[in-house]
Amino acid sequence: MRIVLFGAPGAGKGTQASQLTDKYCAAHISTGDALRQAVADKTDVGLLAKGYMDRGELVPDDVVIAIAKARLAGTGDAGFILDGFPRTITQAEALDIALEEVGKPLQFVVNLSVAEELLIERLSGRWVCPDCKEPYHLVSKQPKVSGVCDKCKGKLMQRDDDKLEAIQNRLRVYNSQTEPVLDYYTGKGVLRNVDAVGDICEVFARVCEAIGG
Ligand code: AMP
Repeated sequence: MRIVLFGAPGAGKGTQASQLTDKYCAAHISTGDALRQAVADKTDVGLLAKGYMDRGELVPDDVVIAIAKARLAGTGDAGFILDGFPRTITQAEALDIALEEVGKPLQFVVNLSVAEELLIERLSGRWVCPDCKEPYHLVSKQPKVSGVCDKCKGKLMQRDDDKLEAIQNRLRVYNSQTEPVLDYYTGKGVLRNVDAVGDICEVFARVCEAIGG
């Protein structure tokens, strides 16, 4: 499978990517996770990215494209689920070129669609395991033991960019810079729109139906 999971912050890309990864044994490539790891490791990329991320802005295209290409180069025949990349037309074009070079074009871009009020509610209740990156939610996906990751027992945390001011900025950035990428993929005939309101299993069933799997 070669899929991009598309959608505004809080649309459920990480959660659905995790489900798809399990089903298709594909690689889960999240540029957000890679950048957070770089910030935690205090690498040059991390030091550069941190300010953008804390403000809810996009990290410059050249930095993110290099990260995505490096991860894509390491994927096998089972393919990949891209989560949070591309987020600009420049990134989408760079992705197409990289995939054309290896003769493995995108099969689907799945757009997870959710109303903005619900996005804010979802983001402000979001927690994540810093060790294995499994996402949780105070309302819709509570861990079995409060504050502890079901998968690896890591101590759950809330991201700095899930604070209200950063959330509002991320949604503004999505509307102005990322949403136009949908037209790019509509033109290529790979876009599938999925109603992403409902419980995780319902949405996953709709995603699978959209990709014929
Ligand atoms: P995410 O976890 O995907 O919401 O990403 C968290 C933050 O990382 C974003 O708000 C951006 O600052 C940065 N980021 C992740 N992916 C990208 C991307 N494709 N382009 C630019 N910035 C990104």
